Amino acid sequence: MLEAILNFLFPPRCPGCGSYVKHNGQWCEECLNKILRVRKLPLDDKMGSVFDGGVLCFCDYEDPVKKLIADAKFEKKKNAVKKLQFFVDRGFEKLDLHDIDIVVPVPLHKNKIKQRGFNQSILFFEDAMKNSDLEIWEVLRRVHETRPQFGLKFAERKKNIKGAFAVADKKHRQLVRGKTVLLVDDIFTTGATFAECGKVLREAGASRIFGLVIASNHK
Ligand SMILES: [Zn+2]
Repeated sequence: MLEAILNFLFPPRCPGCGSYVKHNGQWCEECLNKILRVRKLPLDDKMGSVFDGGVLCFCDYEDPVKKLIADAKFEKKKNAVKKLQFFVDRGFEKLDLHDIDIVVPVPLHKNKIKQRGFNQSILFFEDAMKNSDLEIWEVLRRVHETRPQFGLKFAERKKNIKGAFAVADKKHRQLVRGKTVLLVDDIFTTGATFAECGKVLREAGASRIFGLVIASNHK
């Protein structure tokens, strides 16, 4: 009821072109076709050996997705979350996930969760998970707080993030052994976070590792 009133007062618009759409969070087909293009990111040999299934990405890290991610993460705008969830839902339809056993989100430190109220790599993907047989397992945890990666050079990022992740506990270590894992996060820029998480998953005995992000600036 409330949504009907809100939709009447503020008719939902496509985040790409601003044209009217039926439902809150929805994108028009034209923008989806243009912006949502699943591609495999180019990886160097070291990353390629950890992510032997490859790292997939839904779109380039630019507006409107870039702004939606910032609005959702830093401004906590629910509408931006809905738009991203819709985008991820449609992205998932384009993936072949038959080989995947479990989906593992990049973890946030518990202080960050407290401050932000959610982990974006769960929030943005959990909706799409509901339509699949896959489950999100919080196998990893962030063992120490790191400085924000934003603004740091690659070497600094690598150093900043080194040793930041571990498998949550013994139970999760057993669960991940021999599994094909899909590591998910919102963005992939230098890949330092992914490299570190991938290393920990591999050490824990994951048999094959895929990655998936909403957006990346890697061409
Ligand atoms: Zn549009």
